[in-house]
Amino acid sequence: MAGRIRDEDIALVRERTSITEVISDTVTLKSAGAGNLKGLCPFHDEKSPSFNVSPARNVWYCFGCGAGGDAIKFLMDAEHLSFVEAVERLAARVGLQLRYLEDDRPAPRGNRPQQGQRQRLVAAHAAAVEFYTAQLTTAGARTAREFLAERGFDRAAAERYGCGFAPEGWDPLTRHLRQHGFSHDELVTAGLSRPARSGSLIDRFRRRLLWPIRDLTGDVIGFGARKLFADDDGPKYLNTPETPIYKKSHVLYGIDQAKREIAKQGRVVVVEGYTDVMACHLAGVPTAVATCGTAFGGDHIGVLRRLLLDTDAVAGEIIFTFDGDAAGQKAALRAFEDDQRFVGRTFIAVSPDNMDPCDLRLAKGDLAVRDLVARREPLVDFALRHVISRYDLDTVDGRVEAMRRAAPLVAKLKDQEKRPEYVRKLAGDLGMEIEPVQRAVLAAASGRPVDGPARPARTVPSVDSPQSMVEREALKLALQEPVLAGPMFDAVEASDYRHPVHVVVRTAIAAVGGVGAATGGAVWVEAVRDACEDLAAQALVGELAVEPLRIDGEPDPRYVSITMAQLQWGSVTARIRELKSRIQRINPVNNKDDYFATFGELLSLEQHARALREQAAGGL
Ligand SMILES: [Zn+2]
Repeated sequence: MAGRIRDEDIALVRERTSITEVISDTVTLKSAGAGNLKGLCPFHDEKSPSFNVSPARNVWYCFGCGAGGDAIKFLMDAEHLSFVEAVERLAARVGLQLRYLEDDRPAPRGNRPQQGQRQRLVAAHAAAVEFYTAQLTTAGARTAREFLAERGFDRAAAERYGCGFAPEGWDPLTRHLRQHGFSHDELVTAGLSRPARSGSLIDRFRRRLLWPIRDLTGDVIGFGARKLFADDDGPKYLNTPETPIYKKSHVLYGIDQAKREIAKQGRVVVVEGYTDVMACHLAGVPTAVATCGTAFGGDHIGVLRRLLLDTDAVAGEIIFTFDGDAAGQKAALRAFEDDQRFVGRTFIAVSPDNMDPCDLRLAKGDLAVRDLVARREPLVDFALRHVISRYDLDTVDGRVEAMRRAAPLVAKLKDQEKRPEYVRKLAGDLGMEIEPVQRAVLAAASGRPVDGPARPARTVPSVDSPQSMVEREALKLALQEPVLAGPMFDAVEASDYRHPVHVVVRTAIAAVGGVGAATGGAVWVEAVRDACEDLAAQALVGELAVEPLRIDGEPDPRYVSITMAQLQWGSVTARIRELKSRIQRINPVNNKDDYFATFGELLSLEQHARALREQAAGGL
């Protein structure tokens, strides 16, 4: 147990500490008027700030969860420190030498007063950093220096990030730290040493390049260690294990250097490795951080949200950079699950050459790294593209299956106002009409299984889609007014009809010679019905022969012209959608001929569509 700190020293610490500065280390504060400040409470999950700080009274209070106190209490709660540890932290901050009362317990080992555990573990890490960085300049560390140099990091960069080298041998660090007064237990608890089978203590890291990992306040709390030698049979990266001060689910490498910029820019860039963080910072992306040996998760989001002041009103931006490889994409899609848990807008930046930021900076320079971040795309777009890319959109089956897989992603959008926009986008990407996509999204949102599709089902079509309605009208004209419909009807082929059962009826009309050959009356309708291939179509012919036309008064050639133009316009625009979707998937470099042929067809169809629209509007 810690010795007691003198009361007057505790009072001095309280007096000299700026509560605003202490809290600002973990929570971004903004003015709340009357000299007070507010931010997102670190002790409960909230979307609008109810965590208040009064610098004048040196207190904080959360109206959301009722937590509150002074700077000491804040550190105890936020960093899980004991009272003594919190006071020690603050004393170190304001440069105050604490005096301890003699405890009535047995005196601690050695002649120093026993400090709080956290302070001891942090002190052990500080001594370890000093040891390891000194090792980096020795002859044995040549491979480590080469590793850094090959990745574009000079000596100044290595010093800025405190890179070090864990030397050969079983226990050089352990012996060094023991000489500096750290106990066996402290070194094991800190994760710096571990007991060997023999019972003696050995170093955790050997023959590796090290990055010190710091918390928000800049204290070193652990290390990340990169394998350098082929005969090292450990994993590529080793990290400090879970300790009282190192919780990997919270830790973000680079956060100490990035936090001010993250708060200022309202943006954070999440990269994958230590070298990526260094490369980003050096390239002019100072908001980069990385997780350490674990996937990005809810606790990381919590840390970042409070820095970003990410509320319902203010949306911070979280940008993930991932390798273009399968693992990176999986990670991105997993992040989509997390996306639902925070308000911030989430973006993905994938380098086109599948290079990580470190490689990118080496190959193409600082500007390319900044450009990678600038070219970010919303996570939703990325996820949709990823899902769609697995299907062959040139086939009906492929489009329908892609729609079924993509619809749940759109349905999950937290911001429901964005749904229509994504329904339109998805329909465009798939080359489908908006309506079935919308249905699929609604079904997914309501938890029902997504209905299948617009697969050719030979049932009597519903008349809810404008295209179905216009097809019915054309067939009614052909059956009821064959002389009037005449060549205008015959000029539009069965392939322009979208609904399968309409196609059967149109084909039957062609089979009996077209409406041009008809004289009208019951005989004509009978002939068409007999030519129909299936019962559903035969029943439909009977229905359409008597259903009133959708025009008041007598139909005229102008009405036929408008109906046929509308019908064709529907099929032409559907074809245009297909071509647009296809052209996005053709690589113009590898498939130049295909690209330009498709492009040419698209241009002429668009011209045709414009003419049809004029005709459908009533001009003949
Ligand atoms: Zn609270």
